[in-house]
Formats: sequence, C-alpha cells, structure tokens
Amino acid sequence: MPELRKDPIHGRWVIISTERSRRPSDFQPEERKPMGGFCPLCEGNEDRTPPEIIAYRDNGTPPNSPGWTLRVVSNKFPALRIEGDLNREGEGIYDKMNGIGAHEVVIETPRHTETLVTMPLKGVENVLRAYRDRIVDLKQDQRLRYVLVFKNHGVAAGASLEHSHSQLVALPIVPGRVVDEIEGAKNYFNYKDRCVFCDIVRQELQQKSRVILENKSFLSIAPFASRFPFETWILPKTHYPSYEKMESSLYEQAAQILSDTLKRMNWVLNDPPYNYIIHTSSFSGHESEHYHWHFEIMPKLTKVAGFEWGTGFYINPTPPEEAAEYLREAK
Ligand SMILES: [Zn+2]
Ligand SMILES: [Zn+2]
Ligand SMILES: [Zn+2]
Repeated sequence: MPELRKDPIHGRWVIISTERSRRPSDFQPEERKPMGGFCPLCEGNEDRTPPEIIAYRDNGTPPNSPGWTLRVVSNKFPALRIEGDLNREGEGIYDKMNGIGAHEVVIETPRHTETLVTMPLKGVENVLRAYRDRIVDLKQDQRLRYVLVFKNHGVAAGASLEHSHSQLVALPIVPGRVVDEIEGAKNYFNYKDRCVFCDIVRQELQQKSRVILENKSFLSIAPFASRFPFETWILPKTHYPSYEKMESSLYEQAAQILSDTLKRMNWVLNDPPYNYIIHTSSFSGHESEHYHWHFEIMPKLTKVAGFEWGTGFYINPTPPEEAAEYLREAK
C-alpha cells in the first residue's frame, strides 16, 4: 500500500510508493563521459581563478601559489556580487532589490581526481572547517542575512567542473525554503516547547528503522517523509542552531559521519550524482531555541517532473526504511 506521509517541519506531504519499490540496481547512473581538458581548479593553475579568499597551507607557501590543501575563491561567474549598497525598491506592485551577495567556491583538494569519498578524513574535515570560517566572516557583512552552503557532484546534479568543489552563496534575504523550515520548527516549538529536530533525533534513535549511521555526536537518517529515493539527513544529536557555532572538535565528527555516509551511497548506488546542502540558522540568530542545523543529501536518481512541479508533492519509489537498510548494511 502506498502511504501518504507528512513532514512535521514543512507540513509537506509525500507519497511513499511501496508497490513500485525500487532497488539500488534500478538506478543506473547516466553514462559518464570524462570532461577532460584544462582545469582551473588544479594545483599549479592558481592564476586562472579569482584570487583566494582563504587557503589552508601546511608549509606556509605564499597566497595564490601551489602548496595548498584547500582554497576558497570567488566564483568566476557569480550569481550575486559583493560590491555596492543594498537597494530595495518597488516597481508598481513588484518589489525588487539589487543582487548583493557573495558567491564563493571551495576547492576541496589540489588533486583533480580526488573526491570527498576518496580523500582522507582530514581533507573532509578541512572542507567542513572552511565552510565555518567563511560563514563566520560573511556574517560580519551587515547587508547579508543568510548563507547557503551546497555541493553539486556530477554533471546530472549540476556540477560544471569535474574537480571536487562546493559553493557558498550569501544572500541579502532569508530564502523561502529556509523560512518555511524555520517557521515550521517554530510552530512545533510553540506547541510542544521542544525542538522538532531534537525530537526527530530521539525518536529515530528509538525506532532505529531509518537510522543509517551514528557516532558520538551525529546521526545519519533516511527521513520519515523522504522526498527522493535515498534522501539522507545528518543531524547533530544535541541542539546546535548554527553550523558555525559548534565547538571545534565536532567538525571532525561531522566529517567522519559525512564521509562514511557518502562512501555507503557511493557503494550502494555506484557513484551517483548528488547534491547536498547545509541548512543553518539565519544571521539574525532569532531561531536559536527551535532551529537545529543539518545536512540534507539528495542523490539524483529520479527526475522531478510535471506532477511534482505542479503540486510540490513528491512521489518517492523507495521507502526510507528500505533505503536506510541498504545504506546501513553496505560495507
Ligand atoms: Zn582539476
Ligand atoms: Zn534541536
Ligand atoms: Zn533542512
């Protein structure tokens, strides 16, 4: 029997279609053609990217030269620009503002073929620390209200460069999806006096059927109302509203569970294209009681089509309990 499930945060309904239940082998990734050619993100090509904003260098080599383990640069083709004043204006019934913001690229490794799955744990930890360092810096900018960290892996997931990288976009507004999530969490908090994410962590640890992995501080789950096959969330087990405000030791633990989760996905789904995002509090910090930062990882296995676009109602052919089991049992 298919099930209608409501996400307690968004109030969003999904159809879990057990009848058409799909196994990992039903999702063959598209033929991968090597993109090849010159790569501006490789070590030695530092002059082909905008100058670095930060870089991690073990041996103190000068900026914009080889010898780094990670670099952050501005996006060469930014969606938003950092220069100028923020102007809000109306045009008849329409409101608009200019595109102030920041769009940065985190070059996760100097090596072209290394990925988050193949790099050593320390490399993944560096990536997570770089996100924190950049969020802390961007928060100083009074014009900005939110920063979204995201990664597109694979052409089908929107990656235009093969070299492993992720991106940050800082915005002068809090985006709608984030507002919905914050509002949903706030409504839950007003009603129950508890954080909905903390409650999810507690219940999933009890029920176990949707748990993929856990370590001392984090939990990786297939969410109850998963929109997509193998959708996965990683949440801190204790209440942390803001990603960048965790104590330092937690980034190592976050790297460990992210790396392990991605390795399992890689194994079960044969290196699928995927997107991940970090949802964290807005710069205002007004949501510290009821919001709880997390990763959302979405392997790109199905295409979002007319029905989904028209209704916001997702049809997910793999029950999250089965997805969790495949990932839990992967070695
Ligand atoms: Zn490269
Ligand atoms: Zn919480
Ligand atoms: Zn979220």
